[in-house]
Amino acid sequence: MKVPKLMKTYCKYCKKHAPHNVAQARVKDRGALKKGSIQRAKKRGLGRGFGNLGKYGSKPAISKWKRTGAKSSKRIDYRLKCNVCNKISIRTSSSRVKKFSLE
Ligand SMILES: [Zn+2]
Repeated sequence: MKVPKLMKTYCKYCKKHAPHNVAQARVKDRGALKKGSIQRAKKRGLGRGFGNLGKYGSKPAISKWKRTGAKSSKRIDYRLKCNVCNKISIRTSSSRVKKFSLE
């Protein structure tokens, strides 16, 4: 999908339509919790404990899973920078795309 580098869209800070610079938002890795967070979760009765709790070897390789590679497209997050107030907002694309390019 081709997306224009400049698009006129609603700015929630200006509360009106304004030209925005479009870029692709970087995907943040929201990985595992830190050790302290795990300890705290365990004390509060939320977490299960450290490590993988002896589950190693109970699953086949990921490539053997049924749905591996089934999806070839994904939603894109746009990073919209307002040209009036210079504020940045993130918006997810409404449709799934295989290829993404800015023009
Ligand atoms: Zn604005």
